[in-house]
Amino acid sequence: MNEQSYPEFTGLELSPRKVDYLKFILEKGGTVKTTEISSGLQVDPSTTTKTLNELASAGYLNHVPYRGVNLTELGKAYTQFLIRRHRILSLLLTHYGLSSEEACSEVSRFEAFVSRDAINKICSSMGHPMFGVCGKISHENVCMKEIAIEHLTKY
Ligand SMILES: [Zn+2]
Ligand SMILES: [Zn+2]
Repeated sequence: MNEQSYPEFTGLELSPRKVDYLKFILEKGGTVKTTEISSGLQVDPSTTTKTLNELASAGYLNHVPYRGVNLTELGKAYTQFLIRRHRILSLLLTHYGLSSEEACSEVSRFEAFVSRDAINKICSSMGHPMFGVCGKISHENVCMKEIAIEHLTKY
């Protein structure tokens, strides 16, 4: 499963706070305890529980009784997009005078408001870069198709 399996999402579904939750859960990997999430994100436990319930009812998370939460297939695909969005935007800002650290922290403040459509266009105009300032960038199938065509026309 990747982003491409879910053509319908726009990238604007989640608030900046919820974006942080999904990224945190993906980074931790597997099933993550509610207490780990609330201390990792420095949010009080009752707010954490409420937010996790909202993310679960929207289809991004599964509750695992007594163990915590993990990402559904939709949650995984969506979080892959969230990471690509962060990395494409921070890479973009480093081309305009920001250091890697500056770019990462600026982007963290506004990334939740940039649509998937815009990211796909920027990704394409940047030639689908493989490495961002804070990690590898994985692309949607639609990106991969373009990369393949470019490669074919070169040879
Ligand atoms: Zn970053
Ligand atoms: Zn791409």
